[in-house]
Amino acid sequence: MGSENVLDVMAERLGVSPEDTRSGVRRRVLRVMEYRGIVYVSFRKDFQGYREGSIFLYDPASKESLFIPGYPSIRRVALLSVAVPKWFIDRVVVEEKLDGYNVRVTVFSGRLLAITRGGLVCPYTSSRLDRVLGKTLRGFFEEYNPSDYFLAGEVIGLENPYTRYFYPEAPRFGYFVFDVFYRGSPMPVGERDKLLEEHGVPRVPVLGVFDKNDVEGIREAVLGLEAKGREGVVLKDPYYRVAPLKYTTSAANIGDLELGMRFFFEEGRSFLFSRILREIFKAYEEGLDEKALRDKAERLGYAILAPAVETVRAVSKGSSVYEEFQLEFADRGEMEEFIDYMDSLGVDLVVVKVFEREGRLVAVIRKMKDTWMTVRHILETGLSPLD
Ligand code: ATP
Repeated sequence: MGSENVLDVMAERLGVSPEDTRSGVRRRVLRVMEYRGIVYVSFRKDFQGYREGSIFLYDPASKESLFIPGYPSIRRVALLSVAVPKWFIDRVVVEEKLDGYNVRVTVFSGRLLAITRGGLVCPYTSSRLDRVLGKTLRGFFEEYNPSDYFLAGEVIGLENPYTRYFYPEAPRFGYFVFDVFYRGSPMPVGERDKLLEEHGVPRVPVLGVFDKNDVEGIREAVLGLEAKGREGVVLKDPYYRVAPLKYTTSAANIGDLELGMRFFFEEGRSFLFSRILREIFKAYEEGLDEKALRDKAERLGYAILAPAVETVRAVSKGSSVYEEFQLEFADRGEMEEFIDYMDSLGVDLVVVKVFEREGRLVAVIRKMKDTWMTVRHILETGLSPLD
């Protein structure tokens, strides 16, 4: 009932025919989901001019609805010295790129919702964010109406189901806004900061505003992050007259490979060429001498081989291969809600331990990896699945 209704309401609001909307569901371009009484449509791909990752929220009780567009992709820079002066108009805001996951936030039907990149309401992130920053974020949306505004930011820290990097400023869980969207477009950086500061909403660090020809200045900023092992930068026109660009440190490129290669038939495989490409142009642009190139090659090669060999050794000793993480829940109900949500997405989780911390529940959870099966098969047959 709710699902039929949400599609009709959405078709009307977005100016799409109800037949196209239903066919979108059949073709699995659109997915209808539910979160605590809110029915929503998640856009798994671009649909009728609306971007992948968009979401249409509907409350069957109040008949309220809200559309939030997908967060746009950011082009990657291969050569700072070429791309930056060509792409930008005059000045460039250099922001830190935090390594976590992209979350759009709104308040709908009284609930604070954390929407992931794919256009799904993540029950874990929504509840945790509400505990950590609910008062601040709800305060923001009391002044800035969710029908006009939404926030986009990065969730970082170790306690989440998706990506885990340690940040001293948010060891377990933090949220840092990088864009305030007004009627579908990101606001100029200065205005964004004003709005966020008024309500004490945390935002990503701005490392400086540079002339577009000051590539050395921008490179210095990247080197500073490199030394601290942080991910990289997003370069933005102060008024969003041109789209942002991103650039990552070697620490991140090589660090990603190292983590991904533990599961080399999964993340490792898709990470390999893109990360190597980044390092090829970085080495060229930085003019590395023979010794520095050898050092870089050793780091890169080790990051690719060592974790993968470790995985093969573990499987040969009878261990399975899994990703393990720790999550905090208010209670068992919240934990089950999250496990059911992941199950509905086809992700099997195994809870291996549950304990109490400061009146809350902490669960150690495992996600099994397919790499395990493939490696076991290779160890049994001695044959490679690839030429
Ligand atoms: P893309 O989003 O460009 O399609 P992707 O999903 O693989 O690619 P990344 O390559 O990590 O993501 O880079 C883009 C992401 O970086 C953004 O979607 C956002 O989540 C994150 N990010 C972190 N810090 C910032 C920032 N300061 N400004 C914009 N995005 C940021």
